[in-house]
Amino acid sequence: MSEAVPQRRPRVALVGLGGLGCPAALALAEAEVDLLLLDDDEVELTNLHRQVLYEESDVGRPKLEAARDALVRRGARAERLELRPTRFLPETSSEILTDVDLVLEGSDNFATKFLTADACHLAGVPVVHGAAIRWRATAWLVAPDGRPCYRCLFEDLPRGAQQNCDTAGVMGPVVGFAGAVMAELALRWLQGDTSAAGHVWTYDGSSDRLRQVMVAPRADCPLCGHQPSILDIRESRYLDPLAGSCSQSSGVEAGSVS
Ligand SMILES: [Zn+2]
Repeated sequence: MSEAVPQRRPRVALVGLGGLGCPAALALAEAEVDLLLLDDDEVELTNLHRQVLYEESDVGRPKLEAARDALVRRGARAERLELRPTRFLPETSSEILTDVDLVLEGSDNFATKFLTADACHLAGVPVVHGAAIRWRATAWLVAPDGRPCYRCLFEDLPRGAQQNCDTAGVMGPVVGFAGAVMAELALRWLQGDTSAAGHVWTYDGSSDRLRQVMVAPRADCPLCGHQPSILDIRESRYLDPLAGSCSQSSGVEAGSVS
């Protein structure tokens, strides 16, 4: 009698360990998901209110190391946490995606958001996007077939004047809520629930309003449409003149803080 093949634990890449990535990492680690953590920033005092894995004593430390220590203190096994002190970059995106079951994108800039969306679509990897600004947050899961995809809603990197999240600000609990919803969508997908994909969750903390917004695939989408123009990852496509800023588009926030 042959022995049953042990099932591999799911592996999720977290792009960014800010206000969205912190609660998501905590929830996924507690669900015994293997994590690939990507971030190249350090912990800052002014962000502690929304980056819940870090303490004042972590200020100045790499977020990766502080996050690992916090997750291990809460019971995660260190060998299930792989740390990469880098952003999600065009030159390494395909290599990173060869070995993950899902990507959770909690970055703070449009370039990374579009790069993650494109790379995951081309590699056939599901991705959960998240964003938050002021009292509003969004989270949604794009399935491996990529329809609807991030570009169905936000066609390309913004070129005009956009709202800046440094001036707009964000409520810490709203970011935490978005990160928790992102983790919930990821876990549902990893458990085989395909109904987690294809719609955007929007939350407005000022009115306590949670909505599920359906997104229709666009036939002329440059990524997932009938005649796509984005067929590979080219670095020039992700030069973000507004890195770190936030915007509003189609009534749903595209940008984020971390
Ligand atoms: Zn699309």
